[in-house]
Amino acid sequence: MRSDAANIARALENDEFFPVFQPLVELKTGQLTGVELLARWQHPVSGVIAPDVFIPQVEISGLSNRLTQKLLESAFASVPLVASGLVLSVNLSALQLQDADLPSLIAACAERGAFPPDRLTIEVTESALLDDLARAKDVARRLKDLGCSLALDDFGTGYSSLRHLQALPFDKLKVDRSFVRSMTAARESRKIVAAVVGLGQSLGLMTIAEGVETQAQANMLLWLGCDLGQGWLYGKPAPAGEIPRMLSGVPQTFASFLPAHIEGSSVMTADLPPAQRLAQLQAIYDGAPVGLCFLDRNLRYLSLNRRLAVMNGSPVTAHLGKTVGEVIPRMFPMVEPLIRRALAGEPISGVEMQKPMPDDSGQAETVLLSYQPARDEAGEIVGVSMAVMDVSERKRAEQALRESESHYRHMMQLNPHVPWVLDAQGAVIEASSRWESVTGQTMDRALGDGWVQMLHPDDVESTLEAIRHSLRTGHAIDVNYRVRTPEGQWKWMRSRGSPRFDGAGKIVSIYGVVEEVHEQRQIGNELKTCQAELEAVLELVPMGLIVANAAEATIHAVNPAAKRLLGDAFFPGQYLLEHNWEGPSDAPGRPLTRHENLLARAILGGEAVESLPLDYRSADGTLAQLVLAGKPVFAEGGQLVGALMIVLERASAKEAVAII
Ligand code: C2E
Ligand code: CA
Ligand code: CA
Repeated sequence: MRSDAANIARALENDEFFPVFQPLVELKTGQLTGVELLARWQHPVSGVIAPDVFIPQVEISGLSNRLTQKLLESAFASVPLVASGLVLSVNLSALQLQDADLPSLIAACAERGAFPPDRLTIEVTESALLDDLARAKDVARRLKDLGCSLALDDFGTGYSSLRHLQALPFDKLKVDRSFVRSMTAARESRKIVAAVVGLGQSLGLMTIAEGVETQAQANMLLWLGCDLGQGWLYGKPAPAGEIPRMLSGVPQTFASFLPAHIEGSSVMTADLPPAQRLAQLQAIYDGAPVGLCFLDRNLRYLSLNRRLAVMNGSPVTAHLGKTVGEVIPRMFPMVEPLIRRALAGEPISGVEMQKPMPDDSGQAETVLLSYQPARDEAGEIVGVSMAVMDVSERKRAEQALRESESHYRHMMQLNPHVPWVLDAQGAVIEASSRWESVTGQTMDRALGDGWVQMLHPDDVESTLEAIRHSLRTGHAIDVNYRVRTPEGQWKWMRSRGSPRFDGAGKIVSIYGVVEEVHEQRQIGNELKTCQAELEAVLELVPMGLIVANAAEATIHAVNPAAKRLLGDAFFPGQYLLEHNWEGPSDAPGRPLTRHENLLARAILGGEAVESLPLDYRSADGTLAQLVLAGKPVFAEGGQLVGALMIVLERASAKEAVAII
């Protein structure tokens, strides 16, 4: 090889090596961002020789640094290149990276050529094994201190790629062109490219695909999330004189939506989500709990995720290229107007729709549909992206809630008192229709502040002030006022209520009840009779007994056994409507829920409950298995005067049933 070395030395002497430059282009925009310097040998006899032939000779001759220096000097002599702002990538042999003189050589070259080192990328191939990694590390570190970037070239071809990737501080990863070449045809190559790009991204490296020759490859690389492309599609290596033409060249324009079909699943290069994230999005796309698809202007499925395929009841492949009308004929008449509107440019979100019932299923399915017009770079609408969410479960839950609400409302109507609810502004949003029978005013008119019309003029201000005061301070309302009866008489009423707060302590509503004052007195008397009888047994019985007074809607008595079993959940004088209705399932000493508060149920709805099992954790932490029973107490005349609740430990539950 002596002659080789001599030849190389002579060629260096005679300036027979010259650089050519190949464009590096941002895949998303087609913009030129840099050039790679590739060496050529203008041999006096053989003509131009390719680097694959002479680089090994240069390496063996130990003249690599001199070649690099020559090439850089020649490159920096190109004013357009230096002035361009382009990144210049330079190839180095692995051996050079172990040469402690290299960083200063490059620094000196860059300085002489007035080329900022931070626009230099050093490419090293991983094929040659670095024997002295520690030294290479040091050189790499110093190059980076200069501001240079480091790229790992031909990634994927060597056998120690990952080791190098980990050992040296790389900024960029170049996917070897052998993978790119076969990626549009071979699934394996595509997977390797996807994995390499993903690896690069997860390590925070810029990814560059080599050997991009076709638009199809570029599209796929873009879809996979690759940053830059290099290859004949963007330009072959060319002498420095060509750099101005490269710079002025119109950026490679991309059709912004080019469906490329890969083995049955279609992908898109649309700019809907940022293109770089499309690869990761594909995973989300398929895993999303939402059906997603892209429709073209002819309402054909260009892409969709698996979830949507499942929702529509046919495989992904049965959708692609088909129209919406063909795939979901029954649903189509309902959704077509929405799609058309989106195609006309109107984003449509959150339209709830009941799916036509499948013949064999009784469950109604409700979906939430959104359509988004998709535009290309020129702003023209190229299709519609669609998201569909199955909200059947939620709908059913809402329906159940509505039913329980109407049940509750019904309970309120049965109440001898007039329960009412104010919103956070003090407007009546709900009241028992008993208001109608007391005042003759229809419910419609009573809502909001209509009820005030029925008040005696002298009582209006004090009543409204009581509400305002409660809204301001959170205190309970207790106010007396007169209302006009249908007969034109004034009747004294007493209205009491308590605010309910949200988690943040803000008042969300006020619950209360209006009662006729004279009637209350009468009922109170009647209750006294019952009371006398009850009180005697109250203290003695082994079961928990709680007595409530309907007229006051308060707890009248709690016997010792009830206190032992339920702690302070109930206490005499406690206002039933004030009760906190919700509570965690078995928190110590929690209040009972609306459902469990049998006294409230009895008084509000006249409802008797025979046995309600309840796991209750008392304040001291012991968990008691209880059974509750509750029933309204009626006076002789059929009037509801109170309610009784029995509390038993579950072991003795059978007794309770017998007693009730
Ligand atoms: P490389 O660093 O992987 O450079 C890319 C090679 O791919 C170049 O070959 C380039 O011409 C070729 N190429 C670019 N686009 C396409 C394409 O679309 N399709 C195909 N089939 N090929 C494409 P080139 O110029 O022959 O260089 C070959 C290798 O020689 C380079 O591979 C690099 O490793 C090495 N090399 C070039 N210049 C230098 C140098 O100054 N120093 C060192 N140490 N090595 C160099
Ligand atoms: Ca290279
Ligand atoms: Ca390469």
